Amino acid sequence: MQSKNKPRPTTCEREHIALVKQMDCGVCGAAGPSEAHEIEQGAWFTSLPLCADCHRGSFNGIHGQKRIWTVLKKDELSVLNDTIRKLMYA
Ligand SMILES: [Zn+2]
Ligand SMILES: [Zn+2]
Repeated sequence: MQSKNKPRPTTCEREHIALVKQMDCGVCGAAGPSEAHEIEQGAWFTSLPLCADCHRGSFNGIHGQKRIWTVLKKDELSVLNDTIRKLMYA
């Protein structure tokens, strides 16, 4: 969903988002396609592949209580680190 004052992603940003969404969940490893979570709004190259639960789950999700993130000792930067490694070097 695009909000009104959010700039549209450029072509290369859209390509990157599509790649991220093809990946498995960066937290629990659930098979993709995943949702793209923006660490910072509009900073698409730092978006993370997350399954619906690790993304929006009220108990496990980054937008909820982040329980699975705590259990698996993940945070946005560690998942971003893994995401970049998988995209570029895996
Ligand atoms: Zn997950
Ligand atoms: Zn999100």
